[in-house]
Parts: sequence; structure tokens; C-alpha cells
Amino acid sequence: MPAEFTQYIFLRKELLAVSKVGKFWVREQLCAPYGEAFFCPICAEVWATVTVEGQPTHCRNAFCERHEIGDRLGTWSFGTVERWQLPGSLWSSYDSVWNSRLPPAALQRELLLTIAYREKELNQPIYADNLYPPRLGA
Ligand SMILES: [Zn+2]
Repeated sequence: MPAEFTQYIFLRKELLAVSKVGKFWVREQLCAPYGEAFFCPICAEVWATVTVEGQPTHCRNAFCERHEIGDRLGTWSFGTVERWQLPGSLWSSYDSVWNSRLPPAALQRELLLTIAYREKELNQPIYADNLYPPRLGA
């Protein structure tokens, strides 16, 4: 097994970055990196893929840039979607090893995405409907 693997990041069909990634430790086990396909539970689109040559790719439920928690229709049924995750983000709020594998082009995109989202958030009035969890009977 190689010491380094080639990782490809695609946003929809467009290549964002190619980089080299190494193995990582999980407790006492040295593991090979893996890929993730980002699946939006609203539009059913795989809006990003991070693949690692010769390694398996997992599926991650994550809202695309066009959809977010406010678009919910029974959000509780989406299972493992991180509700605090920025729509369209490749960042993980719980996996620092994953984040360390994101190359500069992906980090730059994360920064721009965060700024755009926060600007949008600042310009939106806060209504009770924007809050989570929804009120019963609403
Ligand atoms: Zn979507």
C-alpha cells in the first residue's frame, strides 16, 4: 500500500483540486484515506465528491449550496445530516483529520462560502420559522 494517495475534489463535474494525502491514525491503527460523496437530501444531487485513488468512497448526507435546514420537509428523517453544517461545505465539524486533508483551493472555497453565508444571514430578518426545532402545530 502506498504511503501517499492521490485525492481528487470535484464540485459537481468541475475539478477543484488534486492533492496528495497520507495515511492517518485512528487509535493504534494506521488507516488509508477514503473518499466521500456529498449527497443533498433535498434535491438528491451528489454535489461534491472527494475521491482517493484506489480507495473506497463513503456517502455523506450534507445540504448543497442551494438547500439548507430552512428548506426542511421533515428534517428529522434526514438522519446523519449535520444541521449546523454550512450548506455546500466540505468541512467536517467532528473530523479534524478529514479537514487536514483539504488542500488550499478547498480551504479558500470554505472561507468564501462562510463569508457569503454569514453576509446572507446578516441580511435576513429573523422569523420564528427560521428557528430550529420547529414549533408543534406551526
Ligand atoms: Zn440540494
